[in-house]
Amino acid sequence: MRPDSAVSVPDMPAIDLQDVSKTYGSVVALDQVSLRVEAGEWLAVMGPSGSGKTTLVNLAGCLDTPSSGSVWVDGVDVSSFSRRELARFRAEKIGFIFQQFHLVPYLTALENILLAQYFHSLADAAEAMAALERVGMAHRARHLPGQLSGGEQQRVSIARALINDPAIILADEPTGNLDERNEEAVMELLRAAHQAGKTLVMVTHDPTIARYADRRIQLHHGRITDISIFSEDDEREFDQILSKLWTLRENHEPLHDDSLRIAGPLSVGRAIAAMTARGWLCRENGRITLLPPGEKRASDLIRRHRLTELLFSHTFELRNEAELEDQAFKFEHSLSPEATARICAFLGHPRACPHGSPIPQGDCCPAAS
Ligand SMILES: [Zn+2]
Ligand SMILES: [Zn+2]
Repeated sequence: MRPDSAVSVPDMPAIDLQDVSKTYGSVVALDQVSLRVEAGEWLAVMGPSGSGKTTLVNLAGCLDTPSSGSVWVDGVDVSSFSRRELARFRAEKIGFIFQQFHLVPYLTALENILLAQYFHSLADAAEAMAALERVGMAHRARHLPGQLSGGEQQRVSIARALINDPAIILADEPTGNLDERNEEAVMELLRAAHQAGKTLVMVTHDPTIARYADRRIQLHHGRITDISIFSEDDEREFDQILSKLWTLRENHEPLHDDSLRIAGPLSVGRAIAAMTARGWLCRENGRITLLPPGEKRASDLIRRHRLTELLFSHTFELRNEAELEDQAFKFEHSLSPEATARICAFLGHPRACPHGSPIPQGDCCPAAS
């Protein structure tokens, strides 16, 4: 920690957009948006492309100024800053993480960090090296970006974003170009930054990634259309609904609200609305259809549950139906995707649970012949 970053005023939001609009010619990219991001908060910004996500991040990140309204960052009104003032302020306050990494291709990992330090204050090789070490990249310090995998490049760019100890981190689709394993590593680094007190604003189209955030907003045509803060219990209810929808469909039963008698903190209607906003499902004339992200999530849940059933009936010879259900239910919630894949492999990539219900195949499973 640098001493100059220790000053913080309580109750001052990290970012405060007040009635902000941004137009490009006749195109309204942001339409009178007001948004307050608290210091230390992790916000996910979701929405289809063209919804104004990038414009919002550009304004919050001092890359651009609004057409009207005001933008406050760390207690300073930056709305009327010149390009030069914005650049100075940005270097001081904000770290960026992009989907495309944006590392300088002819500089090594270490030199990329040194460059970011140089723009801020003074380059310090020892400090830059320590930053690479924190993201597990010290052994790759002398490699050019082209010699690194996507996951490694993103870890270097996270080290770069954090090197000057910014108050705010803006991440635009930070896992967009990564496989699942690297995605998890990157999210782990972001989570550590969040725990260290950084304010994070993360643009993502991926509901699974957005779940890491404290709060999610949805943009549509330049306006905020949905703000959601859901507790873990709410999330569990969503998962129960997804599992129920999956089994109903398996049994060729109609998918509508009335078939979902699930007791949870939210009414089924509210839960369905929230899940619709996340793009997990859609509802038309009372009929529910799983959309690909919901489908994937439901499939993962069912798979994990049925593999656990099988594991317990094999390993512990639990034959008692109720006990099997009970034990499996308690155990499965602690399973990571990797652990689930290991169990699947251990059981020989089984196709059915002890009750004969099909187990959805995972990435670990050999393709069906
Ligand atoms: Zn079963
Ligand atoms: Zn498998």
